[in-house]
Amino acid sequence: MNLGSKVNGKTVPNHVPNSAIILNPYQEGMRLDAGQLVGCDFPAVNLFTNTVYHEGRHTYQMYLANSKSSSGASNDADGDYLIAANLPGYLNADTIVDSITARTVCDPADGPVLSAIYKGEGTLDWFAPPDRRGLTRYYASWALEQDAYAWAAGLNK
Ligand SMILES: [Zn+2]
Repeated sequence: MNLGSKVNGKTVPNHVPNSAIILNPYQEGMRLDAGQLVGCDFPAVNLFTNTVYHEGRHTYQMYLANSKSSSGASNDADGDYLIAANLPGYLNADTIVDSITARTVCDPADGPVLSAIYKGEGTLDWFAPPDRRGLTRYYASWALEQDAYAWAAGLNK
């Protein structure tokens, strides 16, 4: 899969226990584990390392969405990858909880960091464009990106 020169890595959204990550060897910063970027207001260096952390966090998010609570209920019954709840014993992922609680999210394509609310578990939030882009719609992918950029920045300093 050719990701193009500007994309360092990718995680295909999937409701499976073990999602794959795709790394881009055609990007020089990736091959040398060098370079820097700013994603969602989080500065990053060592692009290979940062991309592994970032995409690894996405696969963790997919794992959480594919999991079940102790009562056996799906942690993402509406299928939008936002999770019903943090699971006991797992790392905190408040940014991707499917709730109407406002939180900071990021649209990586446009850069702005937004305060978003989602519809709550049981009502599908649209995952990503393309669709109509209204001021009242917040894409689930924006929460996942905010969480992954913050996670990677916290580990890779
Ligand atoms: Zn991402």
